[in-house]
Amino acid sequence: MQRRNVIVVGAGPVGTVAALACARAGLDVLLLEKESRIDDSPRASTTQPPTLEILAQLGLIDEYIRLGLVARTFEFWDRPTLERIAVFDFERLRGETDFPFVVQTEQHKLANMALERLRGMANAQVLLGTPVTQIDQDEEQVTVSAGAEHFLADYVIGADGGRSTVRKALDIEFEGYTWPERFLVVTTRFDFKAALGCCLRNYMADPQEWTNLFKVAGDDLKGRWRAVFNTREDETDEEALSDAAVRARLSRAYVPEASRDYLHVNLYAVHQRVAKSFRKERVFLCGDAAHVNNPIGGLGLNSGIHEAWDLAACLNRVFTDEDGSMLDSYEARRRPLNIKYVQEQTIANKKRLEERDPEQRARRFADLREIADDPRRHKEFLMRAALLERS
Ligand SMILES: Cc1cc2nc3c(=O)[nH]c(=O)nc-3n(C[C@H](O)[C@H](O)[C@H](O)COP(=O)(O)OP(=O)(O)OC[C@H]3O[C@@H](n4cnc5c(N)ncnc54)[C@H](O)[C@@H]3O)c2cc1C
Repeated sequence: MQRRNVIVVGAGPVGTVAALACARAGLDVLLLEKESRIDDSPRASTTQPPTLEILAQLGLIDEYIRLGLVARTFEFWDRPTLERIAVFDFERLRGETDFPFVVQTEQHKLANMALERLRGMANAQVLLGTPVTQIDQDEEQVTVSAGAEHFLADYVIGADGGRSTVRKALDIEFEGYTWPERFLVVTTRFDFKAALGCCLRNYMADPQEWTNLFKVAGDDLKGRWRAVFNTREDETDEEALSDAAVRARLSRAYVPEASRDYLHVNLYAVHQRVAKSFRKERVFLCGDAAHVNNPIGGLGLNSGIHEAWDLAACLNRVFTDEDGSMLDSYEARRRPLNIKYVQEQTIANKKRLEERDPEQRARRFADLREIADDPRRHKEFLMRAALLERS
């Protein structure tokens, strides 16, 4: 049986980037994906500056920008009064990064782009429709099983998402909690920018029900919007997904009755969880397999891609310089970074949107205005929000 340097489990955006980074470094890579095609449900699109730097190093950036939308600013709004509270401008990060903006490109486009590159590389193999069922390892190697099929590798990267089979096979606890409400994503052609005067990324606070509005390019590059809402805790999935409830939510987001038709609707459970460990001997976790968070702020996938890049570099060092010290520090570096910058910020972002106490709301808005008006604090806020502050 052929033994690979690295097997990556899961061809989501994190697994495909991990596989591509390893393959470009010259490692012999096998990528195993459960499904027969890349999942194109509406999830991540917001890609932060340090992630764009990684995509540039992988040779993907031109296509990535061409298939997405460049968003230089994001805005906070008070939804009930439709007042714009603060505007944050990534231009303030010029000098800190080659990419002082985010790019809104749907995550399935990234996974497909990376897959296409991998298919053209002699040292990479992709097997779709191959659900991994078991991981066994000894001091020498890892055996990855997909039913009756077995594959051998020196190292394995588990990038198989929040319900990770790899994490479960390693018996690693997924510490944290699940929020009682779910998030509803409505995809529509309604042009919120033209109607409300907002930008391409908007966070609208409301004590009853908040809304986030994002524009993405869509597969046809004609442009469409995603409106994200929280559901009520006592609302069933069926209720939230009903046509009447979706149209009512769009009406509360100022969509006129004649424009309330939508293209797609999706409901997500929302968690804040971090794996107790990101490594067991020769097997590593990254992306949603290692941590999940609410999507407000667009950070989860970004941190997963940073881990994939970091891990690929560490693995490469093992094979080229026989230096395993970086592998030892992978978890020590990445786990605290996720807790400090991703878990903490996304929880704070959610609280900012849903705050019910009128005095607290007013204080939070005043704080945002003050930060936006102060050049030093504005930049510091963006450094954290963009995952550029790293320690
Ligand atoms: C509504 C919403 C909006 C979001 N917006 C953003 C955003 O703007 N920015 C951001 O950074 N993050 C965002 N996120 C989070 C982002 O979607 C996830 O962090 C991202 O999908 C993680 O990628 P991944 O590759 O780790 O996992 P996944 O995308 O879940 O991919 C895992 C892959 O592994 C495969 N797999 C699973 N089990 C097996 C198995 N046993 N064998 C083989 N293959 C397997 C799956 O089929 C899948 O292809 C958002 C999430 C949601 C729900």
